[in-house]
Amino acid sequence: MALIVQKFGGTSMADPDRIRESARRVKRELDRGNQVVVAVSAMKGETDRLLNLGMAINPRAGADCPREMDMLASTGEQVSIALMAIALNSMGFDSISLTGRQVGVYTDGAFMKAKITSITADRVKKELAEGKVIVVAGFQGMDPNDDVTTMGRGASDLTAVAISAALKADRCDIYTDVDGVYAADPRIVPQAKKLPVISYEEMLEMASAGAKVLHTRAVELAAKYNVKVKVLSSFDELPEDITVDLPGTIVTSEPDSIREDVLVSSIQRTTNEAKVTLVDVADRPGTAAKIFQLLADHSVVVDMIVQNVGAGGEADLSFTVERPDLVRIKKIESQIKDLVGAQDVLYDDKISKISAIGVGMRTHAGVAARMFEALGKRGINILMISTSEIKISVVIGEEYTELAVRTLCDEFHLTESVK
Ligand code: ADP
Ligand code: ASP
Ligand code: MG
Repeated sequence: MALIVQKFGGTSMADPDRIRESARRVKRELDRGNQVVVAVSAMKGETDRLLNLGMAINPRAGADCPREMDMLASTGEQVSIALMAIALNSMGFDSISLTGRQVGVYTDGAFMKAKITSITADRVKKELAEGKVIVVAGFQGMDPNDDVTTMGRGASDLTAVAISAALKADRCDIYTDVDGVYAADPRIVPQAKKLPVISYEEMLEMASAGAKVLHTRAVELAAKYNVKVKVLSSFDELPEDITVDLPGTIVTSEPDSIREDVLVSSIQRTTNEAKVTLVDVADRPGTAAKIFQLLADHSVVVDMIVQNVGAGGEADLSFTVERPDLVRIKKIESQIKDLVGAQDVLYDDKISKISAIGVGMRTHAGVAARMFEALGKRGINILMISTSEIKISVVIGEEYTELAVRTLCDEFHLTESVK
């Protein structure tokens, strides 16, 4: 008998029919003789609805009363756990729902982006031993003051992986609206190749480059505790034969096939970033340190950084940040200018970041040249570039996002010819 954690996302919990359909996946695993712990997200759109309600009363509610915003947002998952437990009970299983607090998901006190500090899971173990099917609320935890926290958008994946690690589960199944991880978002490239197995390392780069299908911190945690993750669909027809394994993508430490011939295994995009340029900054030692310290003091997370030094001894410094952080930067604009003598601060939020990822890049040259040439041929101008060992990212105009993803999928043979 294996212990499987099954996570159902918002689309899999969207309405009573979908919840019943998801519950059939739980039943299937139980019928196979396994123990199951379920983790669920709020119903599709519910977290947005709740947060918008708070902001309708105070547009700055996130900054002014983050504790209350977490209290509010966490209710979405509370509704879902009860509905899933009702569905499972109606199928004849003894099922109970538990909130993050009841499970013992302890976090730090950073509301809206809390980090897990420990999971006791005592209650889960006790109820499991009594033969119950446990349904755990994703996304939420409890801080040292006994206050409800949430762990960032999309973080129910993180709950599922964390519970899997705490219970030493045999597998963590992430059910969503696609049947696995693809070389590119199948919504942009419907013919993108499906990746049957992928390493934690590549998945982590993909997630941080925008592959929403798994939360970055969930992949990080899975790698740390060696949790075997499988991504699969809650929408596909279930096979009659319960012994058949459902198709999906396995994320693991050792992918079956070592594919040295594959230079680039996926193309991802993010459209949630903005570019900030400080014009005519004094080109002196210590300038960059001052700017980025000030930004860090205001909790602004910087991604790419590019500096161009002009002949006159002055530099333009550009960097990208998450779009919502622009508000914070604009507030300290004059402070930034004074600190480093910048003439102007320019903002561009009509950008996107396109990344090519692949472990093959480590040992093969020329990927960057091919990537830039393919984009150039399509008339796509590159605004910024950054590289890591297995990833090359470029910032381009937002209007070219989909064209760039498709172009690069063609260039690196990441599409199936017929599907
Ligand atoms: P859930 O609500 O189940 O958590 P998400 O919307 O967070 O689902 O994640 C699933 C979505 O991730 C898919 O609908 C798909 O559009 C998107 N996605 C982005 N990149 C990829 C990729 N490389 N492979 C599969 N899905 C991807
Ligand atoms: N309900 C939360 C969100 O919408 C968490 C999740 O779905 O994973 O961000
Ligand atoms: Mg998700």
